Amino acid sequence: MSLYRDEGVVLRTIRLGEADRIVTMMTRGHGKVRAVAKGVRRTKSKFGARLEPLSHVTMLCWQGRELDIVNQAEVTDTFRTVREDLARVSKAFTVLEVVDQLAQEGHANPRLYDMVVGALRALDAEDAALLVPAFCLKVLALEGSAPILDRCATCGALDDLVAFDLVEGGVLCRSCRRGRPVSPDALALLRRILGGDLAAALGEPAGPVVAEVTELATAAMEGHLDRRLRSVRASPTA
Ligand SMILES: [Zn+2]
Repeated sequence: MSLYRDEGVVLRTIRLGEADRIVTMMTRGHGKVRAVAKGVRRTKSKFGARLEPLSHVTMLCWQGRELDIVNQAEVTDTFRTVREDLARVSKAFTVLEVVDQLAQEGHANPRLYDMVVGALRALDAEDAALLVPAFCLKVLALEGSAPILDRCATCGALDDLVAFDLVEGGVLCRSCRRGRPVSPDALALLRRILGGDLAAALGEPAGPVVAEVTELATAAMEGHLDRRLRSVRASPTA
């Protein structure tokens, strides 16, 4: 077995036997990794609470055929402010769930990894209402599946865009409309998020427009994943 060093964010853990856990991580250099943390559930574990969901760690792992084995782990960031705030925890878990669904084992995706770390750091600094929808839209863009926002997805018309439909892949004009209605303000905000104005858009306070964008972004991500996001549905703020 060979030893490797990488950094990662813990996505989830499951029990393994009496004292161990299988830790699923999104790593920078190895994509999604599943590794056994031995003795992690013992009181005197050398890993302590380092390998809990949300932890950003640098670790040394033995590469195995199916599961790797964590040899050492050092915490880079615990995202303490996120952990101590239920609303932020819920947002963070949605980010982790999306990544868990999209990342593949054995395929490095450093851009996706950087987006996860960036989203968690932003959330630790400020509880932005748009964080999760903006993250979902940016990830869809990274996957080449961003919704069409600049013209009618069916006929190409540039004006009077009034609806949004996942099957058509974006916004629709009045004559082509189907799916759900989209307000001009929500369309403008969607364009800002995907058009390079993300930092300013994140300052947008919660309200009906943010709620509309959140619904559209969640639906677009769920359509892309072909499944419901558990953490969004379970969210106390949703
Ligand atoms: Zn049209």
